[in-house]
Amino acid sequence: MSEDRSHSAAAIAAAVRAGDEHAEAIARRALDAVARTQPVLNAFVSWDRDVTLSAAAEAPVNGPLAGVPVAVKDNIATPVLTTSCGSRILAGYVSPYEATAARKLREAGAVLVGKTQMDEFAMGSSTEHSAFGPARNPHDVARVPGGSSGGSAVAVAAGVCPIALGSETGGSVRQPAAFCGIVGIKPTYGRVSRFGLVAFASSLDNVGVFGATVDDAALGLEVIAGPDTRHDATSAPGPAPSFGAPHPARHGLRDLAGVVVGKPREYFPDTLDAATRDRCERALDALRARGAVIRDVTLPHTNLAIAAYYIIAPAECSANLARFDGVRYGARIEGDGLRAMYEATRSAGFGPEVTRRVLLGTYVLSAGYCDAYYRKAMQARVRIRADFDVVFASGVHALFTPTTPTPAFRFGEISDPYEMYLSDIFTVTANLAEVPAMSIPIGRVRGLPVGGQLIAARFDEATMLRVARALEAELGAEAAR
Ligand code: GLN
Repeated sequence: MSEDRSHSAAAIAAAVRAGDEHAEAIARRALDAVARTQPVLNAFVSWDRDVTLSAAAEAPVNGPLAGVPVAVKDNIATPVLTTSCGSRILAGYVSPYEATAARKLREAGAVLVGKTQMDEFAMGSSTEHSAFGPARNPHDVARVPGGSSGGSAVAVAAGVCPIALGSETGGSVRQPAAFCGIVGIKPTYGRVSRFGLVAFASSLDNVGVFGATVDDAALGLEVIAGPDTRHDATSAPGPAPSFGAPHPARHGLRDLAGVVVGKPREYFPDTLDAATRDRCERALDALRARGAVIRDVTLPHTNLAIAAYYIIAPAECSANLARFDGVRYGARIEGDGLRAMYEATRSAGFGPEVTRRVLLGTYVLSAGYCDAYYRKAMQARVRIRADFDVVFASGVHALFTPTTPTPAFRFGEISDPYEMYLSDIFTVTANLAEVPAMSIPIGRVRGLPVGGQLIAARFDEATMLRVARALEAELGAEAAR
């Protein structure tokens, strides 16, 4: 939201490194911003002045994020404040260990200002499924901020901190970034360690980053990226490249010369909100103005994505969440058994959405149904992944799509869970295909922010960020209008 670069993460860290600013003074201002915004926006689940001020006193003053206030989603383990995952089951829980991403932020000099509001166990698109929520959209408090990482998006959009961590299983960083008018990145699966991220669906989960600008989000990603051989066997080997801002000399008016941006037709259906489509067309014009070639492409298995995601994600979640309540998967469930299981799950303290997912997941994995649902969904996933491989092998460097079909909806506006799932229609594909994707602000519709999505080939965050920087620069103030 803030176009004021003096509040950017890089500027704050530079001032601290130069000794012009002190981390404690910055932390105090961030805490004041929490106190001021919390009664209206409810972005945070836990915060504590003493904890944050002592973290500021201990923060290394020479790191890339020296003194930068950050917010962290409440499903990413931190040894201070809570890690309650938006759930009554974990209310007040303090983790004995620290997630790798949180540790890397801290070691880079960042100062944790609070743990943020989220849908329970990251299942949802609005924070309405938080036991402590919801958070509210700073652009219109009658509307949702998106979810599940809504609180982190609000913290950045309201100017509390320039960088925040979220998590992504099917769009939980990109969708709230779009709804709140900020930047949100879901890296390639394996780019960032998942150690300490409370599991939802392990083959889809990623730690993601919010930033007020592309540079802020990229800097946050650069700090948390890289292998974690000790704690996460799925983290990618080899050092992550630099995602920081390119040398100013490389910024030019035709900085996308030679870049081909694909426009996948499945992401621009006839039913797309007309104003959202219009904003997307302007963004595509902005990319052309920077020298990019826009090419119509097809990802033919996109229509399978929501169904595949809402089988695979619940299946994995029913396995992961079994540790909280003992519900088993793999059993044959019929009639009364299903009812008995529903009662058991509810009485364990899960909310209705988590209960629905655990039951659905247990069902699709159960003997007799596994082939019909889970295995089919896995086959669809392979095809969706192959669609991206084909497009990126054909000379396309990045894809541009809307992030969501509509801008932020009102609280209570979507009560049917299946309708809610459709708000993930443009985002779940990247998780299924394990490719990097991000949302950046491309303008407003009826006063509400609209996000454009960029997707790149696996481990090619650098190209995605290059296109994003050019788009952000070309749209300039128009992105905020
Ligand atoms: N909204 C999606 C869901 O409810 C995505 C959640 C996520 O990415 N954590 O599953």
